[in-house]
Amino acid sequence: MNKILIALALAGFVTSCSNTTSELSRQNIKTPKNIIMVIGDGMGPAYTTAYRYFKDNTDTPLVEETVFDRLHVGSSSTYPDLASDYVTDSAASATALSSGIKTYNGAIGVNIQKQPVQSVLSYAKSLGKKTGVVVTSQINHATPASYLAHNESRQNYNEIADSYIDEGIQADVYLGGGWQYFIRDDRNLVNEFKQNGFQYVDDYAELASATTNKPLLGLFGKKGLPWALDDTNKHRLSMMTKAATSHLANQNGYFMLVEASQIDWGGHANDIASAMAEMDDLAKTLEYLEQYVAENPDTLVIVTADHSTGGFTIGAKGVYEWRPEVLKHLKHSTDAIAAKFSKEDITQKKLSSMLNFGVSKKEISQLVALKQDTLAEIEAFETTKVNKGKYKPNLKRRLYKAINRIVDKRTNTGWTSSGHTAVDVPVFALGKGSELFVGHQDNTDIAKKLFKLLGK
Ligand SMILES: [Zn+2]
Repeated sequence: MNKILIALALAGFVTSCSNTTSELSRQNIKTPKNIIMVIGDGMGPAYTTAYRYFKDNTDTPLVEETVFDRLHVGSSSTYPDLASDYVTDSAASATALSSGIKTYNGAIGVNIQKQPVQSVLSYAKSLGKKTGVVVTSQINHATPASYLAHNESRQNYNEIADSYIDEGIQADVYLGGGWQYFIRDDRNLVNEFKQNGFQYVDDYAELASATTNKPLLGLFGKKGLPWALDDTNKHRLSMMTKAATSHLANQNGYFMLVEASQIDWGGHANDIASAMAEMDDLAKTLEYLEQYVAENPDTLVIVTADHSTGGFTIGAKGVYEWRPEVLKHLKHSTDAIAAKFSKEDITQKKLSSMLNFGVSKKEISQLVALKQDTLAEIEAFETTKVNKGKYKPNLKRRLYKAINRIVDKRTNTGWTSSGHTAVDVPVFALGKGSELFVGHQDNTDIAKKLFKLLGK
């Protein structure tokens, strides 16, 4: 080989080396075109485990694997800024997941100095990506709000809703509930979205026929959507997610937040029936996303929870059993059954038929007594002039609690709290860049990794 050829060969070698290196570093980052962040609100590890037993086919000797088992990659800590102790609320944890910072409980997209922090959603938008939120709560609830807004308190629902217009429209697709906050006497935000070029739908059939060439606002409930068990579509989260992916798909890619908001509400109410039905809706959503990633490999799906709720235990009172069978045949939520019995006579036949399992005479007489006592308390409350600072007893809520205890007894479900607990939560991921989320991490790391994937 002559000197010129050697020089050329070396130059080629160097060039190919540097190409390989830069390609590798590009590959190492593996920036996905689309990022789908999924949050199971309140979905601590007991929920994903319980879902496996809830779905188990008892005709086979094996406990079948669920989508959660397939996609599991690690865990995450959830503690807020220590000004708020170790137990987080949804707002602080969602702000950690959206923006990568620790803040105080109740904070929506602001740090402990109450200064706004940027979310991965708004950063993705600044890169020219489309953005969307799909939730089963109201769309201005703590989790979606932490991706879309900045407010010192999650309780400022109207202010947060107003900010969706006033601080600049952040998303191209909003699906969830919230008529109460978006159509008010003092302001009609739905009309304002329409004036900004949005199409508005308020039932699931309209959603199916919405055009994909216009931004989309879909509100399907006064606050949150009905419980999965009571909704016309028990898999409404997966249906909305599917619709959103077709509305968001575009050349530059998108960032979408999906939240199974009501797993947490089931946990707060210690209502295992609704908690499992909401988990089933989330599982269907993830099964759809598995298929979506197979067809669109340039997509990352990352799934976690903001905290666990209710201190849910699979088995209780020292008994080594959990019997989820009765949960598989429910046609109504226990909340809806309680609402019915707060207005109608409670009978053994009616309650057994609504729950789809037999209740005992003793259980019925306890419920009847609870109703009579509560009605007497309500009457006393209404006739007493001095009840300032006291709450009127809530009959439906008491019956709801009592019916949930009947379900707990049948299933041997345990609870230690009506609030959140600080246990680490599972992390699931699939698609491009998913290897970044393997192992243990903090909730703030999830946002930091997403920012990194987006090139920040
Ligand atoms: Zn939460």
